[in-house]
Amino acid sequence: MKFNTKTIHGGQHNVDPAFGSVMPPIYQTSTYSQTTPGGHKGFQYSRSGNPTRAALERSLASIENGNYGMAFGSGLAAIDAVLKLLKPGDEVISTNDLYGGSYRLFTNIFEGFGIKFHFVNMSDASNIANFINDNTKMIWVETPTNPMMNIIDIKASAAIAQKHNLLLVVDNTFATPYLQNPMDLGADIVMHSATKYLGGHSDVVMGALVVKDKELADKLYFIQNASGAISGPQDCFLVLRGIKTLHLRVQRHCENGKAVAHYLKNHPKIEKVYWPGFEDHPNYKVAKSQMSDFGGMISFVTKGNNYDDAIKIVENFKVFTLAESLGGVESLAGHPASMTHASIPKEEREKTGVVDALIRLSVGVEDIDDLISDLKQAIG
Ligand SMILES: *Cc1c(COP(=O)(O)O)cnc(C)c1O
Repeated sequence: MKFNTKTIHGGQHNVDPAFGSVMPPIYQTSTYSQTTPGGHKGFQYSRSGNPTRAALERSLASIENGNYGMAFGSGLAAIDAVLKLLKPGDEVISTNDLYGGSYRLFTNIFEGFGIKFHFVNMSDASNIANFINDNTKMIWVETPTNPMMNIIDIKASAAIAQKHNLLLVVDNTFATPYLQNPMDLGADIVMHSATKYLGGHSDVVMGALVVKDKELADKLYFIQNASGAISGPQDCFLVLRGIKTLHLRVQRHCENGKAVAHYLKNHPKIEKVYWPGFEDHPNYKVAKSQMSDFGGMISFVTKGNNYDDAIKIVENFKVFTLAESLGGVESLAGHPASMTHASIPKEEREKTGVVDALIRLSVGVEDIDDLISDLKQAIG
């Protein structure tokens, strides 16, 4: 089955044996009747499993080319579950330029449980090997990175992970499975904030994991059930609905993103534009080889790197909405230094390029003329 069919039909056979509804019903129930102890129809309690969630989890597995999908209450809950595979003393090598909430979870929660994190510039994947020792258990890759749009070579990272018997986890939130399939490039676990492109309509918070290996899936399922950070049936229905148009939406995000990136690059008041589709992007070749297009996420810095200039621009927007998050149909603008990345110390974030004048755009699927006009009036 091709991707554009999988988004609609992947894992969606016979979702309603009772009436044949095309979409699975929202099974808003916590429990299931049994005829005799253990005599149930596959579901016993909705933390352990729910038919609406199961339909979404099959879809997630299908679109990411894995065998098992798992839905969590948020992206961070999904990350939390992955890290619970580890034990005190274990070490993780992570992308240095990563989602602020992931950084906060790693350093403020899991370091306290005795897990050590190395934050590494992975633009050159061979840097990863320098941090491997006997305690290393996991490589955490986010690509494209948030918000600097660095690209990390997934295949090269997978080769290092395999050589040293480490788990490779890829946060595929920015790229989406429409543009990039980490499983096919050697990842063991693919993670999503389904809040973003998979849901796609800014109306739900959810996380997802996809794996191929049965043993690993069993461990993660055990954690999902034991820790209990599951997503509810209504939210699962919404994300399943979102996935059905993922290919259409991301195609338009890419078209609009390309137009906005080029507009900004030629703007006299803009110093720098970060977008992996530019041929002078340091990892353009890797992006081109592992992604089918370049997406709608763009960051830029105004000339002079002035904090107040950046704030004025984000306040001026009329079509772009100043808000956290990304990946919805509507265009959003954010100021990472004071919003998404405020939890990363200034010194640490500036090292990776998150300066005071950095603005991040999630380019939506509106008419491109309206988006360009809005940028024009906002930047001046
Ligand atoms: C938003 C996001 C997360 C966290 O997901 P939530 O659904 O907000 O918990 C993790 N990684 C990336 C890249 C994100 O954009």
